[in-house]
Amino acid sequence: MRFCRFDDNRLGLIRAGLVHDITEILDHLPALGWPAPPGDHFFNHLDRLAPLFEAAADGKPGLDPAGLALLSPVANPGKIIAAPVNYAKHLDESRKDRQINFGNEIKTIYDYGLFLKATSSLIGPSQPVIADWPDRRIDHEVELALVIGKPGFRIAEEQALDHVAGYMIGLDMTIRGTEDRSYRKSLDSFSVLGPHFVSADEIPDPHRLELKLSVNGEPRQQANTAQLILDCRALIAYASKAYTLWPGDVIMTGTPEGVGPVEPGDFIHAAIEQIGEMQVQIAG
Ligand code: MN
Repeated sequence: MRFCRFDDNRLGLIRAGLVHDITEILDHLPALGWPAPPGDHFFNHLDRLAPLFEAAADGKPGLDPAGLALLSPVANPGKIIAAPVNYAKHLDESRKDRQINFGNEIKTIYDYGLFLKATSSLIGPSQPVIADWPDRRIDHEVELALVIGKPGFRIAEEQALDHVAGYMIGLDMTIRGTEDRSYRKSLDSFSVLGPHFVSADEIPDPHRLELKLSVNGEPRQQANTAQLILDCRALIAYASKAYTLWPGDVIMTGTPEGVGPVEPGDFIHAAIEQIGEMQVQIAG
């Protein structure tokens, strides 16, 4: 199952590459009180809503996604968890860069743990990344992003993939420098998810996916999720050792080598095998 959010918070089921508007499904969501329960309201109820998708899409025109303003498939994640230096070759390039530019050696993911990106940084592919710190270098990072579907705390690696609802392409945008990651990677628009959600049953092995990113047509990053240091299972175990994972929580699994700068006017093209591709504009 593939779905997207688009335009004015519409919900679309994707069949054969075309988007069928199933926004009416959202009428089945229970009313939200205050305080809202943990998790994203839609993903908390996805198991109950998903069986209604196909019938709602039947008879609806198929829209070309190229003509739609695609939003983040997850609207209200409770947290966006991200993995630092989770590909060996990116660890090498980060070490070299930090020694040259910042004079301190980079550690490994086992030293750092994971980090959190502010949920207010989240956008979809139709919205521009705002790169308006002209004195600082802003880098792209393409990453496999997963969405939690079933809550859990201290999840064992063996059961970890049972907690995944599905996958998306993620961009973990970054200002380079010495500040804490949660500061440098949480600017408004610095977390991009898209182009649509792909349910876990469509991706039986998330550790065999080619991912790539280009800027203005110039190839920058190309790798395979087989090269992850901590794979999706290990990341879920690592994250849930610290905090309960709720439906709608997002884990960005880390970026491979080839990170590089972007500037206003640039276009990022990102693709992950079996998921799709998306283009994102950089604005000033
Ligand atoms: Mn990253």
